[in-house]
Amino acid sequence: MQTGLMQNAPLLISGILAHAARAHADREIVSRLVGEPLWRYDYAGLASRAAQAATMLRSLGIDAGDCVSSLAWNTHRHYELFFAVPGIGAVLHTANPRLSDEQIVYTINHAGSQVLLFDSSFAECVARLRPRLDKIRHFIELAAQPVSAMADVQGYERLIAAAMPLDWPQFDENAGAVLCYTSGTTGDPKGVLYSHRSVVLHAMAAGLSGAFGLSAFDCIMPCSSLYHGTAWGLPYAAAINGCKFVLPCDRMDGPSLQELIQSEGVTISGGVPTIWTMYLTHLERSGEDAGTLARLVIGGSAVPRAMAETFQTRYGVAVCQLWGMTETSPLGVVATPTPRLAGRGQQAVNDTVWTRQGRLQFGIELRVVDEKGREMPRDGVSAGRVKVRGPWTVERYYRSETSALDEDGWFDTGDIATLDADGFMRITDRSKDVIKSGGEWVSSIDIENVAAACPGVKVAAVVGVFHPKWEGRPLLVIEPHGDAEVTAESVLAHLEPNIVKWWMPDAVVFDAVPLTATGKIDKKVLRERYRDHLIDKSLNAANQ
Ligand code: ADP
Repeated sequence: MQTGLMQNAPLLISGILAHAARAHADREIVSRLVGEPLWRYDYAGLASRAAQAATMLRSLGIDAGDCVSSLAWNTHRHYELFFAVPGIGAVLHTANPRLSDEQIVYTINHAGSQVLLFDSSFAECVARLRPRLDKIRHFIELAAQPVSAMADVQGYERLIAAAMPLDWPQFDENAGAVLCYTSGTTGDPKGVLYSHRSVVLHAMAAGLSGAFGLSAFDCIMPCSSLYHGTAWGLPYAAAINGCKFVLPCDRMDGPSLQELIQSEGVTISGGVPTIWTMYLTHLERSGEDAGTLARLVIGGSAVPRAMAETFQTRYGVAVCQLWGMTETSPLGVVATPTPRLAGRGQQAVNDTVWTRQGRLQFGIELRVVDEKGREMPRDGVSAGRVKVRGPWTVERYYRSETSALDEDGWFDTGDIATLDADGFMRITDRSKDVIKSGGEWVSSIDIENVAAACPGVKVAAVVGVFHPKWEGRPLLVIEPHGDAEVTAESVLAHLEPNIVKWWMPDAVVFDAVPLTATGKIDKKVLRERYRDHLIDKSLNAANQ
């Protein structure tokens, strides 16, 4: 082997910032804040404030390898930390404020963080948790005027105003940069420590035309949380591509999003389906259009076909679905058209792009295997466990002694899916949500997808509950739109012609659908709530 004769410049996050400040200096960044007016600056401003924040952290004794936690919404100050902390070789742990107190404490302590930077909205939460946060030496409120009642809280603005910007140090691109925890629906949350190299490669890939297709003309508004898997890498991808960046804080309701889309000219946004259900409801109620919005990247849980179709046909907004997880940084597959599909006509494009989680992307290999670990045919029908590998996929969890991979170096995602000959993946379930009825799998996602298109249905959730004969049977939980008249009969009549006969739910119940800390349907809660529903029903029927 001959060694290549090219420069060996490390892929560092500070390199992204330096590039944005040089090449896209005056491209705007706009941020909504809690209790403060809209903030407006540009990549040059971001670069100098991030460099001041880095100096400030160093003056507090934070050094390479140390950990710093944030508890913050999608704001420009949080964005600054995405560069300031890893820029000096320290690790930014983005704590998820929607976790339970127990889990927030667990993750901050497990990270070993020495500084906690928090938004004013979390002042009370931080005061409550403080006695249990072992290693935090400094509490910094991300505000112009701190509101915290805690005596030794320092204000971010005052601290950085006193700091001179630093020159970013160079170090190994494999250094840890951002630490994200899974939401721990089973057991303690697990930490995934992204490296500079993985973050940079992932952000470059996210912008590609087969993925988010970003250009310098785009205005991105990330509506997935910055603390959740770095909002799909958008903070970094935006800076690489020179996109205008609009941060909506915690205001993800329809009218608030619409206000920013209209006033800032947002062209692309993304988030979990629940947010876009609220946005669609707003558009329908107000009669407004989606303005400049051209693309939506929706993922985190399955996108109902009806949602993608409504966005496209009624509002001219193209929806591309994304699948991924904290362990994949999180970009896995993205549903964008291919020439092969286009050759079969628009209907074929729609049928695939609106119903698949996405297609293979460079940088993340994917295979579907059966229970014995044998690769299954890529025929769009054979479903099995999804395994992945690549430079932005986890190797081992934070502070774990053992690898998270199988003997061939693949990571088991815990998702069940099919792959087809065009390279598109379709998730049928999460392995822990799988419904096994008489030994056969029922796809909860497929049923939800059809039910969500029934008029009046806001959210549809399907869980497997115990059945004395079949072991498990699907139960459908419907949360209707406030004023809609939906009945079990109308939903079942809608389902009947559209799903396999033996998948028809054994019961339909009306209930508010609970969500997890990452905005997904909390199937664990629903399964527990309705565990005995079918037994109770059959007992009632027997007693009548
Ligand atoms: P958490 O476990 O904290 O919710 P993640 O965000 O890492 O954390 O969740 C990843 C999981 O979300 C995936 O393994 C998959 O089950 C689900 N998921 C993500 N995107 C999609 C999608 N487009 N369709 C269906 N499921 C999805």
